[in-house]
Amino acid sequence: MFIYGGLNTKISQTLKFNRFLSFIIIINLIFYSVQNSGSPAVASHVLLALSWITLGIFIIFNEILLWVTNKPYLSSPQVFENVTVFDILCTSFLVIAVTIFTGNSDFVFLALIPIVKAISCNKMKYSINIFLICAAMILIANILGWFEKEFLVSNDNIIISKTLSFLTVMGTLAYLGKIFTRVVEFTGNKATAFHNMATTDVLTGLLNRREFNRRISEEFARAKRHKSQLSLALFDIDFFKKINDTYGHNAGDTILRELGLFITNNTRTSDIAARYGGEEFALILPETSQLKAYELLDRLRQLVEEETFNKLEKPVKATISVGVAQVDLSDKAPIDFCGRADKALYKAKESGRNRVERASLGLPKIELVYKRKIA
Ligand code: GH3
Ligand code: MG
Ligand code: MG
Repeated sequence: MFIYGGLNTKISQTLKFNRFLSFIIIINLIFYSVQNSGSPAVASHVLLALSWITLGIFIIFNEILLWVTNKPYLSSPQVFENVTVFDILCTSFLVIAVTIFTGNSDFVFLALIPIVKAISCNKMKYSINIFLICAAMILIANILGWFEKEFLVSNDNIIISKTLSFLTVMGTLAYLGKIFTRVVEFTGNKATAFHNMATTDVLTGLLNRREFNRRISEEFARAKRHKSQLSLALFDIDFFKKINDTYGHNAGDTILRELGLFITNNTRTSDIAARYGGEEFALILPETSQLKAYELLDRLRQLVEEETFNKLEKPVKATISVGVAQVDLSDKAPIDFCGRADKALYKAKESGRNRVERASLGLPKIELVYKRKIA
């Protein structure tokens, strides 16, 4: 839904830009029509009529495409894909036709419109093809001396004519630049949204287990490298199964959600909170000793004990058991460190719950190195 919605906005923006392009070309064609009204040359009237017909067809197609993209029952990635390709082809055709029919070589710069459209939709092949077609067209037209024939652009009004085509090209390209910026922003937002989806736990809004694994590895490596302190707290809601059984699964979910928010609100921004498992949470505490972590977590434990959850429905009291550990010399990998925090949590459960336990320091594995004395 999110992706379809985004695509829809992106295509609608481009199609609305086509309305602006049509409007600008109408102004140009009106100028040529007024200038050409008394001309005896039949060719100029034919070329002008062809320009108007091409523009008319373009406007009709564009309105049909806009109508299609705004109909929810016609919206699908496949339809959007086809609309995008069709739009690029229509715009290319319009730009080439208007350049040839009016004989105004300045309009060839408008070919940047379908090229930018193709690039912004990841259709590189189209953009290269459009570029090659336009280059070939210019070459042939120049060989034939087409732009010097001046069927429509006469030297009488050269200043007005040149100013108008300059404004046309600059105006449309500036507008296109604005749309392109929006498309880039949209793509960036989409990437951020996907990243959030991949790293965040939906229920609690905290980091998920996968992201926790990544962050703990990162912090572990940093602590080892800089020989800095790093602590980890693992905590688990006491008798959560009973809470679920008594108040229902929805109440259980609400408690998890509220506890996630509670943890975020009661810890430092540098601390990294994650949902470790079902009703288990983890808090990575950079630059924190085990003693400091113990004090912090015991305060959090007390706050949880005093807090009432699920207030809007049935108020529920809950407690947590916590195990804290600090990276020490015995830890060779994050898993050793997590294992010691987990053991401390187990101890807290065994010792009666609603308490914080500290992990015992791991024993460093001393590697004995014998150095042979060189006489
Ligand atoms: P202990 O004090 O030993 O931790 O007891 P406990 O009941 O909390 O532990 P146990 O492992 O027996 O039960 C955990 C329960 O957490 C079981 C499971 O249904 C519940 N749970 C896990 N994830 C969710 C969830 O996302 N929503 C809800 N509502 N319940 C969950
Ligand atoms: Mg539990
Ligand atoms: Mg558990």
